[in-house]
Amino acid sequence: VITGAEARHIARVLRHRPGDRVRVTDGRGTEYQLELAEVRHEKVTGLVRARAANLREPRHRLTLALAALKGEKLVQACEQAAELGISEFLPFRSERTIARLSPARVERLRHVAVSALKSSTRTVLPAIGEPVDLSALIRRVPEFDQSLVAYEEETGVGLERVLNRSAKSVLAIVGPEGGFAPEEIDRLRAAGVVSFSLGPRRLRAETAAVSVVAGVLQLLGDLG
Ligand code: SAM
Repeated sequence: VITGAEARHIARVLRHRPGDRVRVTDGRGTEYQLELAEVRHEKVTGLVRARAANLREPRHRLTLALAALKGEKLVQACEQAAELGISEFLPFRSERTIARLSPARVERLRHVAVSALKSSTRTVLPAIGEPVDLSALIRRVPEFDQSLVAYEEETGVGLERVLNRSAKSVLAIVGPEGGFAPEEIDRLRAAGVVSFSLGPRRLRAETAAVSVVAGVLQLLGDLG
């Protein structure tokens, strides 16, 4: 049974009819092939004719922790990272973040995650974490096999060198427009977070965020 915006989408936008077959997902890893029975704007029902698990999902869990960015940049980075395959998007506030993370903005990120799920035909909906400050972000580090921070002042090592290929779960942290304060990097490193460079060019935070997600998933073999 499908209700709400998704029912309206099937009935009004896609204009499906009873008897049509549609693919739907529960967002928790299962895809169903439905034969539609009833198609109304407020409610659609169908019979499950087939189901499959974990189609088109990465084998690794990647959480992208991105500092609050101004305007549409946070939403754009969240959507593109969700299309690529992150498991969680975790917005955070740091010393130099300027943008606020209102409940409305967090809700907007949740909507964007759903649209990225549908457009990319993923079957697991990325979680949108409640915004955290740097201390709370650091407290989550032990959850992951490896935690990384893209640091604009890092010159020594790149992702290729630092990424632990046997990690099953990775936390990747990207800073705000103003970058990280040195003492923030010291605190992250003291917590076991490994800093790395994305090269000698200075990237916008949203460019760095998508590059990190693509780089980690590529190196872990999750991008085809
Ligand atoms: N205010 C910083 C400066 O002047 O160098 C720039 C910060 S950059 C716009 C935003 C974030 O993107 C950084 O905190 C970092 O996480 C990431 N980033 C951008 N370019 C990078 C690079 N070449 N290497 C590593 N991280 C980078």
